[in-house]
Amino acid sequence: MDKNFKEEFRQIIKFEPPLYKQRHQFVKDLVEKYKPKKVADLGCADCSLLWMLKFCSCIEVLAGLDICANVMKEKMHTLSPLPVDYLQPSERSLTVTLHHGSVAHKDPCMLGFDLVTCIELIEHLEESELKKFPEVVFGFMAPSIVVISTPNSEFNCLLPGVMLYRHPDHKFEWSQAEFQSWALETARCYDYSVEFTGVGHPPTGMEKVGFCTQIGVFFRKYPQTAESVQSEKPMEAVYKTVFKAVYPSLKDEKYLQNAVISEVIFTAQIIKHRLMSKREEYSDDPERKSKFQLSMDCFSDYLGKLVVEKTMEPFVSGNEVYIPLTTIFSFPKVNRLCGTFEKLCKLIAGKVTLSSDGSAVMFNIEHENEDN
Ligand code: SAH
Repeated sequence: MDKNFKEEFRQIIKFEPPLYKQRHQFVKDLVEKYKPKKVADLGCADCSLLWMLKFCSCIEVLAGLDICANVMKEKMHTLSPLPVDYLQPSERSLTVTLHHGSVAHKDPCMLGFDLVTCIELIEHLEESELKKFPEVVFGFMAPSIVVISTPNSEFNCLLPGVMLYRHPDHKFEWSQAEFQSWALETARCYDYSVEFTGVGHPPTGMEKVGFCTQIGVFFRKYPQTAESVQSEKPMEAVYKTVFKAVYPSLKDEKYLQNAVISEVIFTAQIIKHRLMSKREEYSDDPERKSKFQLSMDCFSDYLGKLVVEKTMEPFVSGNEVYIPLTTIFSFPKVNRLCGTFEKLCKLIAGKVTLSSDGSAVMFNIEHENEDN
């Protein structure tokens, strides 16, 4: 390569967005494509990738592992649920856990993951750790997909200020051929296939140099059975859990009940409001008012039949407004939250004021009448 040409690029190479963001975006895109439920990030450092992944709605279990507890602890609070997560619990369940330990050791808490990411991790491993790493990740954890990214040493000549390695803690940096030969051998050993790609494009005319960050995406070739996940691997825990957050979820009956009660009251209020405005509209006109009164009286006559007639319209009787639960249940959000009418009745029992037969939400409008 022409030395002057290289020198020229050293000055201008700057990735936009920054390379670490491109690596994280690569993982996010992969998650959105394959929709794994359980994702583990090995060498998670300041948890920034985990933080980004917690917004992927397919993920229900997120775990981070790092040999340095302090770097994880610095920003682990960003993985805690926010007030809004409690105010509007999500439909999915999400548990985020951080473990302190090494990828050179097996721990049962790392079993059962669909996707394992190792972003800029392997070049930090000592030779002895790198030797054990494939058995831990591909042999023991054996997820359906593994993503490994590492610097491409061939690109270093284009990076300003890089003498030997890009970071003082790197134990090695591989060329494309070195990474690919390690990855292909690992894939062969553990029955995976591997596809190579990367982020950080080389400048035009220098494509041979390859991506700045080289990435291998490994796909497990054999199907995983329930037995291969757990039973044959009884062992002691060696990692220390340093953080655990269980997000509020509608899958948890307690949050579902709160959400259903709020939605039922909200829906009933809307229906009541519409009914009352209609009544007011009628009351401006004596003729229409008498018509309305007549229809209301009819509804009152039907009050006694409510037990058998559950598909009734909302109605006013004296100081009470009745909004049938069947009407409320027909509202999409209530319907989606509860699934069945029986579940709706069960969740609101004793929590919302109902008519004596339990078929309608009841509001007392005495004070509203006074205000008018
Ligand atoms: N994955 C992060 C940063 C990687 S830096 C990102 O995408 O930005 C490498 C990380 O690996 C460091 O936090 C380091 O503490 C951790 N690490 C090094 N050796 C390790 C080991 N044997 N087991 C687990 N983590 C290790």
